[in-house]
Amino acid sequence: AIARVKRAGLFRTQGLIGGKWMDAYDGKTFEVYNPATGEVLANVACMGKQEANDAIASAHAAFTSWSKLTTTERSKLMRKWYDLLIAHQTELGQLITLEQGKPVAEGYNEVLIGADCLEFFLEEVKRCYGDIIPQTQADRRMFVLKQPVGVVGAITPWNLPLAMAFRKVTPAMACGCTVVMKPSELTPLSALAAAELALQAGIPPGVFNVVMGIAPEIGDAFLASPKVRAITFTGSTAVGKMLLAGAAQTVKKTSMELGGNAPSMIFDDADLEVTVKGLMIVKFFNCGQTCISPNRILVQEGIHDKFAAALTKAVQSLRVGHGFDEGVTQGPLINQAALHKIEALVEDAVSQGAKVLVGGKRHSLGLTFYEPTVIVDVTSDMLISSTEIFGPVLALQRFKTEEEAIHLANDSDAGLAGYIYTENLRRCWRVAEAIEFGIVGVNDGLIPEASAPFGGFKQSGLGREGSKYGLDDFLEIKYLCLGNM
Ligand code: ADP
Repeated sequence: AIARVKRAGLFRTQGLIGGKWMDAYDGKTFEVYNPATGEVLANVACMGKQEANDAIASAHAAFTSWSKLTTTERSKLMRKWYDLLIAHQTELGQLITLEQGKPVAEGYNEVLIGADCLEFFLEEVKRCYGDIIPQTQADRRMFVLKQPVGVVGAITPWNLPLAMAFRKVTPAMACGCTVVMKPSELTPLSALAAAELALQAGIPPGVFNVVMGIAPEIGDAFLASPKVRAITFTGSTAVGKMLLAGAAQTVKKTSMELGGNAPSMIFDDADLEVTVKGLMIVKFFNCGQTCISPNRILVQEGIHDKFAAALTKAVQSLRVGHGFDEGVTQGPLINQAALHKIEALVEDAVSQGAKVLVGGKRHSLGLTFYEPTVIVDVTSDMLISSTEIFGPVLALQRFKTEEEAIHLANDSDAGLAGYIYTENLRRCWRVAEAIEFGIVGVNDGLIPEASAPFGGFKQSGLGREGSKYGLDDFLEIKYLCLGNM
């Protein structure tokens, strides 16, 4: 797979600044690993403050002309980028699997998630209207203009290294902003490949820059620079809070996609088949390593045992292995830290009375492979209920009444995704309105779409990605008043 990516010219290990591939100024590199084998995949330029500042300067210089292009001109260039992504779906998908570990079918699908987002925004920006405000004075005319905010600093995570980058970069670029992006150091390669394709598409130098290496230095350079007008981040709540505090120095716009602690609420009147299918698809997507992954499986007493049995059966049919092996549905976890965290959470739950129905330990493949797991008799005071698991563990907790389920669901600082399974229309509406989550799925699993808003309530974040609202984080609103007409 690596040979194929290299032949296509998509195996990039340098940063991209002002349209040029650059080494770190001091020549340093860091290693990127294949989590499925533990082998070093690449030595990547280890950049810091200076490179970040130069990338910001390039983006700032490019903003003048990029923001002045018409939406048609920008969209045409971005359409070429889209076509190149689709043409290289195989190489990009394989590269994602190499650096992140997911089954290659998920890698291919991730390219489409990114491409969908790109297509949505290159189209949506043509409908990004301002307003004409009805007159309040005879000699006055009032308008609202929407203008790109300027240089955007984007910091992205390792779980969907290509798709998460596209969710940020494409709305920003479509509306005329220029971008400096810092991918996760665990998985920089697919974003670098995508940047190469942006160059090939003719997107002008400096519009999309990529730097990576010393994350806090690069982050601080974004925060300190008055030229960077917006920060968009997906990652942990702890880092998000630091970035929010830092953005105050220069009063930037901020959009934050932070941690979740998603409840799945399964009521006695749920359709068992629909529920198991929905839960499995979203829980085991990316081996449970997403912020919308159901974390607290709240199950009503009447359906509990039947549901736990059906779920256990479904979990037993999953196949753990290397992402390139036929039939594999679950890859490795991203690193040892993730493995240790999950082990500690399961151990804590079991020590307090939870029972393992299936899994509950490391997989015989070694490294960071963990067995898909179902545990029952979980309670709210266990660590696993208040911590984002980010792995293939289903933790089932019983409840008696709808009120209790709503209380349990809302009893969290996080408010990203929530799922409801019921065949009762009234209940579905009541519960959907009552829960404090930005994304609510009813009788369904993997619900994010480029055309739908994605974002959290409470400490899960600020702003929305995808949909018409996804442009707002990159636009300034200008009130224009013509007087004495
Ligand atoms: P996770 O726990 O999912 O790895 P992180 O929040 O640590 O989440 O990482 C998400 C992104 O934030 C990555 O690109 C990472 O390099 C970056 N990051 C981590 N710490 C900092 C920091 N101090 N400043 C800026 N970016 C950071």
